[in-house]
Amino acid sequence: MEYGPSPESNADVVQWLDRHGRRFGHFIEGRFVTPDGRPAIPVRNPATGEDLATVVCGSAEDVDQAVRAARKAFGAWSRLPGHERALHLYAIARHIQKRSRFLAVLETMDNGKPIRETRDLDIPLAARHFYHHAGWAAVLEDEFPGYGPLGVCGQVIPWNFPLLMLAWKIAPALAAGNTVVLKPADLTPLSALAFAEICQEAGLPAGVVNIVQGDGGTGAWLCGHSGVDKVAFTGSTRVGRLIREQIAGSGKRLSLELGGKSPFIVCEDADLDAAVEGVVDAIWFNQGEVCCAGSRLLVQEGIAGRFYQRLRQRLDTLRVGDPLDKSTDVGAIVSAAQLQRIQGLVQQGLDEGGVLWQKAGPLPAQGHFITPGFFTGTDASATVCQEEIFGPIAVSMTFRTPDEAVLLANNTRYGLAASIWSENINVALDMAARVKAGVVWVNATNLLDAGAGFGGYRESGFGREGAREGMYEYLAASWEAAPDVGAGAGVDAGADAAGAGVGATDAGAAGAGAEIEAGAGPVAALCAAPAGLAPMAGPAVDRTAKLYIHGRQVRPDGGHYYSVLGPQGQVVGQAGLGNRKDIRNAVEAAAKAGGWSAMAAPARAQVLYFLGENLAARSEDFARRLVGDAGASPDRAREEVRAAIRRTFYYAAQADKFDGAVHATHSRHVTLAMHEAYGVMGLVCPQAAPLLSLVSLILPAIAMGNRVVAVPSAALPLFAMDFYQVLDTSDVPPGVVNLVTGDGASLAGTLAGHAEVSALWYAGSAADCALVERAAAGNLKACWAVGSRDWLDLQQGQGRAYLRHAVQVKNIWIPYGA
Ligand code: NDP
Repeated sequence: MEYGPSPESNADVVQWLDRHGRRFGHFIEGRFVTPDGRPAIPVRNPATGEDLATVVCGSAEDVDQAVRAARKAFGAWSRLPGHERALHLYAIARHIQKRSRFLAVLETMDNGKPIRETRDLDIPLAARHFYHHAGWAAVLEDEFPGYGPLGVCGQVIPWNFPLLMLAWKIAPALAAGNTVVLKPADLTPLSALAFAEICQEAGLPAGVVNIVQGDGGTGAWLCGHSGVDKVAFTGSTRVGRLIREQIAGSGKRLSLELGGKSPFIVCEDADLDAAVEGVVDAIWFNQGEVCCAGSRLLVQEGIAGRFYQRLRQRLDTLRVGDPLDKSTDVGAIVSAAQLQRIQGLVQQGLDEGGVLWQKAGPLPAQGHFITPGFFTGTDASATVCQEEIFGPIAVSMTFRTPDEAVLLANNTRYGLAASIWSENINVALDMAARVKAGVVWVNATNLLDAGAGFGGYRESGFGREGAREGMYEYLAASWEAAPDVGAGAGVDAGADAAGAGVGATDAGAAGAGAEIEAGAGPVAALCAAPAGLAPMAGPAVDRTAKLYIHGRQVRPDGGHYYSVLGPQGQVVGQAGLGNRKDIRNAVEAAAKAGGWSAMAAPARAQVLYFLGENLAARSEDFARRLVGDAGASPDRAREEVRAAIRRTFYYAAQADKFDGAVHATHSRHVTLAMHEAYGVMGLVCPQAAPLLSLVSLILPAIAMGNRVVAVPSAALPLFAMDFYQVLDTSDVPPGVVNLVTGDGASLAGTLAGHAEVSALWYAGSAADCALVERAAAGNLKACWAVGSRDWLDLQQGQGRAYLRHAVQVKNIWIPYGA
């Protein structure tokens, strides 16, 4: 049976283009502006080659104007009550729905993707995103108490889902009370302009949303602009890394949604027909130009022959052609350059021994089309198995056991998504837990919803879009730096820069033999030991602190030590001067301690409670150290020790309570938002409140199942020595906490550059932060500048923010029923 032609009319879009003279500029402060003297970027229909329009290529000056407009609008917008912002978002959603057919056609003409997909997916999901976030705006005060907007967000999006990516960026930013400047990809700038019209129609205040057109240079200006407080980017890993480096040390918040090479695992007990349809939606949907495309088929050996045969049959039924035709399955590739790139990679796959299966039949005579297909016989190390093709070509490999499937699935630098097909829920969920990916679909693929977080592990970026965690990307606690501070969030200018003599004046006040009184309550009972502090000119016992790696005290690799000075400049002890090799050894030890992450949360909680007990038993020593090394007054020392004990108990309690969620997304689906440990984390501790800050960083990280390499403050490193003795007596398995003392900045640099370290928290000067963030661009590790804060304050020094930064959310979608 043949399909007859069923083209969608593009008359409305043609009229719209004509009405604008087929020449577009920016949308700044509620007005469309087309500045003179800017280069014109041609906008072409990829399916026909037809020139649709031109857009101006924004200059640094244009970006500056847009950022200023967003800044101007920020005050009033952020002060609007949440429910009023919600009404604006709701109005936008309604307008998107009202113009949905127009938007679908426009998107198809601009991008080349089939109208069926823009009509049924891109546009409805964009509207859904604004509805969902209208809801977050309405409940913001209740759901995020103590949190507020960041300021001006600079957002850069790619060409594969132009309007949808715009919605993913703008909706949460606005809901949280931020204003935005967004730059669309120069290949697909049109739907953002239609969206700007919607903002006007819906009565959004001028300057809340600004759109600047342009190329990569324009994007770089936007990210680098000093008036931008937060950068959100979706696109290639290469550019994501450039942005990470560009804004290192600026204090701007950053979220990156980057590339992927996602596994699509078919087990021998899978429903093969359903899995074949899954492949269609995984890699031939949107011409394979999908960051989370299931582009690596992993098929269990026993069924591989049958599966490939059915896949080839299904491939032959795909209709490639006019994207405006409602029965087209695969449209045009976005540009000639992208087509060439895909063709180059396909040729490389053939050269490397792959066998390419493609749909039979001719392609349209004009436009950027490619025949969809898949490779068999490709080796796991082949370029096409490692590189993102970003076209409708999958690669395939076989596996024998689920363990091997997981190994193959994780054999990539990316970690965006995975799709697992098995009728055995045990097998599927076990794999889902072990695959390193931010989104896992069981017996399904490419399911998306604003109510579930989306984002990657590893080089697929960090941060999430959608759900509660997506909102946090656009919010800051009220005590954090004000939005317009551009000088680096991690500047510990005050307390931390003060040197070894922190609290020197307190030392005087302490006087000789000052008494520490035991407080009241259970914590006080645990603290009962320090009935008094003996006068000290130095530490009670002069010992040389070693490093602590894999549960053992070890000498620094270089054999060097340094003198630690007390508040009066006296030597209070010696600490090991760790180097790169020590950090590498510590990371290796942490990497091997994976059992900690696999341990049940209640069991981890028990260990932490025990740690709290032992810390309490040593409280006298810690208090002495705080007086002697840090010059704290006895009162202050007592307060800090008690706070550290309390904090240990707090994180012991949270170990089995800070858990995930089950999201309400599609019907007959459970979408589990699981909290997963990063693995190995680096912690570079501040000097302020040296015991409490050490505990405040280590405890949440290990409570969530991470293993850590901590660098204590260089000026006050001896607390680490006391602390590892507590660890030794607390059943903390070797390798879970490793302590390397030495020059903080250089050890931080080594940690930041280490590929095995997945997340890094650090305190230091703005210059140190810049170094760390630049070095961390290598494996795109999640960085958190903990900055200067009052560690004794319960809001600032402990809480869910620490736990949130210690996990990444993995969303597992599980359909059920018929
Ligand atoms: P890019 O990452 O280059 O582009 C994404 C966006 O970033 C575009 O708006 C682009 O502008 C802009 N941009 C480019 N350079 C910079 C910069 N230095 N600073 C700030 N913004 C910048 O993706 P490409 O379009 O070049 O595609 C290349 C490959 O990237 C694809 O083949 C695919 O493999 C991958 N990709 C992945 C995507 C994903 O969702 N994960 C999306 C798109 C591409 P402009 O396009 O106007 O130059």
